[in-house]
Amino acid sequence: MTALAQRTGAVNLGQGFPDTDGPAGMLAAAKDAIDGGLNQYPPGPGMPVLRQAVAEHRTRYGTQYDPDTEVLVTVGATEAIAAALLALVEPGDEVVLFEPYYDSYAASVAMAGAARRTVSLVEDPVSGRFGLDVEALRAAIGPKTRALLINTPHNPTGTVLTRAELEAVAALCVEHDLVAITDEVYEHLVFDANEHVPLATLPGMAERTVTISSAGKTFNCTGWKIGWVCATPELVSAIKAAKQFITFVGGAPFQPAVAYALRNELAWVEDLRTSLATKRSRLSEGLAEAGFAVRPSEGTYFITADVRPLGFTDGAELCRALPERIGVAAVPVQVFTDHPDQWRHLVRFAFCKKDEVLDDALRRLHKLT
Ligand code: PMP
Ligand code: GLN
Repeated sequence: MTALAQRTGAVNLGQGFPDTDGPAGMLAAAKDAIDGGLNQYPPGPGMPVLRQAVAEHRTRYGTQYDPDTEVLVTVGATEAIAAALLALVEPGDEVVLFEPYYDSYAASVAMAGAARRTVSLVEDPVSGRFGLDVEALRAAIGPKTRALLINTPHNPTGTVLTRAELEAVAALCVEHDLVAITDEVYEHLVFDANEHVPLATLPGMAERTVTISSAGKTFNCTGWKIGWVCATPELVSAIKAAKQFITFVGGAPFQPAVAYALRNELAWVEDLRTSLATKRSRLSEGLAEAGFAVRPSEGTYFITADVRPLGFTDGAELCRALPERIGVAAVPVQVFTDHPDQWRHLVRFAFCKKDEVLDDALRRLHKLT
């Protein structure tokens, strides 16, 4: 969709990346690191300064990790997810995913030789929020289930799972002795009264949870690809063994810069969060005026919207036509699922863009009717 947007000169509300830079102090720290000669292989587990900063950052949730044995720096959350699955899941095992799911999950499960069992998030008939179906989750867990991969705040729906939803997940993980792999890359991008609850903070979960996050979304640097894993020493050393032969290491000068940001730029992140909440409202109100039935977004960069009130039935068809027709790119939600029919009517819009870009897109979208 980004390639199509570029070819047609469309406003790209498809791929989720911001169009402004991260905090100036972080950018300066990366330049200083390059000038200071931090341009060779960093240590395999990541630079100590970043592992220390990650461990300190997790204390905001009340969790303690030893930076030497319980933190691993990765090439973005994407590598962390792939390495965790390759390390912890054997061919023939099953991994539970919640659909819609971020596209790398299915590929990583397949690369590990495992099978995926998907559990659909369900739409609340009143609010339109996509929430967890505990009974469907219970039904998806069988004798071969080894791990569960869960993303909150959730791309593409914008759902922030509640403590009660996560407690139900935790209880099933404990009951069935599952490893939980959590994707928390949008941990700071949570709006209104919603709260990000790391699964590892719930009873019985610290020892079985692989917590994954990254700098890209928190500090507007999606191209830096600095991510991390926090887990027990046993889990981290297994994941490190896989990571060693995927990339070994990456992003040397960006590691101290992200460490600087985790320690010094959380006030900047708070401003980002406030501004994204306003952009979320701006885009959702505009989409509603343009005729979409907009679903609530509690966090992330994303809003989903139902295209049926506009007379369309297939989000993918619409997304393929939109760039040429009115000059806007969006992503059909069905690409994140195993059951496209169930999700065909929804498209995803990213709102991590300048106000004038959102307004330009909305002006164009009004021409749909
Ligand atoms: N998980 C989710 C849910 C995402 O939306 C993204 C970002 N596109 C990633 C993982 C990848 O994160 P990173 O860029 O740190 O690899
Ligand atoms: N996470 C972003 C998205 O969902 C972009 C990552 C990608 O393009 N693979 O749009």
